[in-house]
Amino acid sequence: MEALAESLGVPRYRGRQLAQWIFVKGVSDLDAMSDLPKDFRAALAAQTSIELPEVERRTPSQDGSQKLVLRYGDGARVQAVLMPDADRLTLCVSTQVGCGFGCAFCFTGTMGLERNLTAGEIVGQVLVARRTLEAGTRITHIVYMGMGEPLANYAATVTSLRILTDPKALGFSPRRITVSTVGLVSGIERLARENLKVNLAISLHATSNQIRNRIMPVNKGFAIEELLEACRGFPVAFRQRITFEYVLLDRVNDSAEDARRLVRLLKGIRAKVNLIPFNDWDGSGFQRPPLQRILAFQSLLLEEGIRTTIRWSKGEDIGAACGQLKEAVTV
Ligand code: SF4
Repeated sequence: MEALAESLGVPRYRGRQLAQWIFVKGVSDLDAMSDLPKDFRAALAAQTSIELPEVERRTPSQDGSQKLVLRYGDGARVQAVLMPDADRLTLCVSTQVGCGFGCAFCFTGTMGLERNLTAGEIVGQVLVARRTLEAGTRITHIVYMGMGEPLANYAATVTSLRILTDPKALGFSPRRITVSTVGLVSGIERLARENLKVNLAISLHATSNQIRNRIMPVNKGFAIEELLEACRGFPVAFRQRITFEYVLLDRVNDSAEDARRLVRLLKGIRAKVNLIPFNDWDGSGFQRPPLQRILAFQSLLLEEGIRTTIRWSKGEDIGAACGQLKEAVTV
């Protein structure tokens, strides 16, 4: 925005003021930006546009989470989900319209990839979600776990992270932002070099290449060993850990042998494991394991000293749980 201001013939600090209006004060109407010179506002109006996605639908869930269906100018729709938990309010954002990775257990994957979002469209989700909050409430954490694969839309993801963490823009602590990936090794290695200091989450979901190839086609390009090697090279800040997401599928990846293999795979990585009992959707062909097996899997990991939580997905009743995000592009 400083560069934009300069290109329009005003000093760079005018760009910082513009950023303040948009990101800090949440104002997108140029007429309301009273401390910007009239000529600058006119030039901005002629050459740029400030667009936010429209909140087409807001569906509250019984557990307090809220699904926002957001619509962009070209009609593309994504979802963002607000998830309160004790003193946290986490926003889950999307990076693509649909997803091209086709994980077998994932409803979003059945959509295919429609298009990438721009950095502005990703940040726009945070800005509009913030507008829906009651006074005195604020988003404390952001997870890139909505529709799409963030590292398959690398440049926009990184630019959006820089805007979210810039103290002159949205000012989120990078420690409160998590980027989740299906395991694009080259993307993880690049992200490691960006010095963004954000957290990393890996959708692992299997402990052998044979099973992972079956449920996550991406594994055919990047095998588990390669993926974990990239994780070992990722800078993890003091007190932080890499999260490994593991969706538990009945009799597919939930045996004691799987749990023991997972322990071996994670050796030498500051890891925590998030077990996600599968969220049913029609025609998936998978089932959630019985509670007993879910707890047994967790116990095995805990006994080996691996921090392990079970994520009973939020928003399950509104189709906003992990792997359930899907929105038709046209209705
Ligand atoms: S789990 Fe993630 S990467 Fe896999 S299809 Fe679903 S949205 Fe895409």
